[in-house]
Amino acid sequence: MNQFNIRNFCIIAHIDHGKSTLADRFLEITGTVARDKIRPQMLDTMELERERGITIKLQPVTMEYESQISNLKSQNYVLNLIDTPGHVDFSYEVSRTLAACEGAILLVDATRGIQAQTLANWQLAKAHNLVIIPVINKIDLPHAAVAQVEEEIGELLQVPPEEILKVSAKTGEGVKAVLEKVIKKVPSPKGERGEELKALIFDSCYSPFYGAIAYVRVFEGRVQKGTKIKSLATQRVGEVLEVGEFKLKYVPAEALEAGEIGYLTSGAKNIREIQVGDTISSDSPAQVSPIPGFKKPQPMVFASFYAAGSDTLLLRQALEKLQLNDSSLSFEPENSAAFGQGFRCGFLGLLHLEIAKSRLEREYNLDLIVTQPQVAYREKTIGAKIEYQEPWVKLEIITPKEYLGPVMELAQGRRAIYQNTKFLGDRAILEYEAPLGEIIIDFYDKLKSQSSGYASQNYELIEWRPGDLIKLEVLIAGEKIAEFERIVPRSRAQREAKELAQKLKNLIPRQMFEVSIQVAVDGKILAREDISAMKKDVTAKLYGGDITRKNKLLKKQAAGKKRMKQIGKVQIPNNVFIDLLRT
Ligand code: GDP
Ligand code: MG
Repeated sequence: MNQFNIRNFCIIAHIDHGKSTLADRFLEITGTVARDKIRPQMLDTMELERERGITIKLQPVTMEYESQISNLKSQNYVLNLIDTPGHVDFSYEVSRTLAACEGAILLVDATRGIQAQTLANWQLAKAHNLVIIPVINKIDLPHAAVAQVEEEIGELLQVPPEEILKVSAKTGEGVKAVLEKVIKKVPSPKGERGEELKALIFDSCYSPFYGAIAYVRVFEGRVQKGTKIKSLATQRVGEVLEVGEFKLKYVPAEALEAGEIGYLTSGAKNIREIQVGDTISSDSPAQVSPIPGFKKPQPMVFASFYAAGSDTLLLRQALEKLQLNDSSLSFEPENSAAFGQGFRCGFLGLLHLEIAKSRLEREYNLDLIVTQPQVAYREKTIGAKIEYQEPWVKLEIITPKEYLGPVMELAQGRRAIYQNTKFLGDRAILEYEAPLGEIIIDFYDKLKSQSSGYASQNYELIEWRPGDLIKLEVLIAGEKIAEFERIVPRSRAQREAKELAQKLKNLIPRQMFEVSIQVAVDGKILAREDISAMKKDVTAKLYGGDITRKNKLLKKQAAGKKRMKQIGKVQIPNNVFIDLLRT
């Protein structure tokens, strides 16, 4: 397609503001999907995305559209849209998307207004010099506060109200005008098609059929089947086997040229060969300078993964494939006395961890044990003492003014250090510095309940700082279990030790013998609980001799057993670490 008629753009927003639904309407209007074939959030293709109703991965799609701008002769355009996730754990997906686009639709829910990821994603888009098209969504809802949200956006973006489009992604009202605006406002991509090839890998994916697939934005030159290519960072040389477009499936094309977005395959098998952020050029590039890649995101939480069937090799292969789909995942081998061979995995947050775990279980059929997630503490030995350092983040909270009091109180209870407040229309933007460990687990839930669901948060890592922290150790039946260790503020050690012992008591089933649970610091016991021994025959208490009932119970027990792990003499349920967090 003639470069002049291409538009590369994305939709960014806070989670649930309607990005994927707006994308549905675009697919419909452009005839990319027939009206009767469309299903809600069509671009959320992963089973997990559909179940949870959230977008996890960026998703590109190429659409053809005949513009009806009245003062122009109608013209055919190619619209390359990338839908993005809105949750803070997946903001790396957003920043990579932005690097492939010239414009961004900033979508704001009329019933919610500007929220934390609206702000964070808008700042990212601005930093990438993207043309931003503000759109208010969900105007069909009776409690839509269109005028108020319009004012907020106007103030933030410094644009007049008539520049802000109003739509209902649900009914389709106003959506066509958004496409027309994209064509009018977003510049067509630059780049010379006669130049040496220069393409950015903005994502990758593993498919059993193709192996590793590189998602690319071509900035200069042209690439097609048979082109000899070289990746500048990995220095890998290969030959292109197929190029193509994203049309809700991989559709082969003749070539990809400057300005276009598509995929290419070259027989690569893993992440070491296809690196997100790398630049692809010809196999003997003259003097091509790489496109600035992406700063690899810092893992924020760590947990260890073990295959319950002790199938470590399968787990490694699954992690490698998953990494092709999720370049923010990191892992390294680890050995544990209790669980054997496993991997210490790094994630951008708890949702990221949960999603990765589910994907490994579903897509690779693994039965996993996941240890208690913790933030990335650092240990530093100073003389004979160990100093623990903890990651600190810049925390931004957006809340309607009326909840300012309770929200500030909550933050202060988490060792957060107040920085400043800004106001935007009817809402306050609070800035703190806070220890990540204090906000990563349940802070967001608390924030929501303190603000009737209206406050939202965003954070980014700033640095590691020494803290007055100590390590709680756990002994079960006298045996120290490293996997239960946790680092906590000294001031809370006593309380946390007691809670931990109680929780473990509730989660560990009775054994044939009495089991003690002790929580200690430096050998000093802070809390102790005992689990009394189990009665021998579990079926004895069933009156009568109903054999089917008896069998059922025994079966249930057997099934329960499969999900247990023998640690020392004690049977511990696989899910104990996850349940520890929940209870
Ligand atoms: P995303 O997280 O930004 O991709 O949001 P989704 O597209 O998944 O939408 C989140 C929820 O809002 C879904 O339940 C949608 O059906 C709903 N939704 C999206 N747009 C509209 C709209 O214009 N009107 C109404 N009433 N609901 C909408
Ligand atoms: Mg979505």
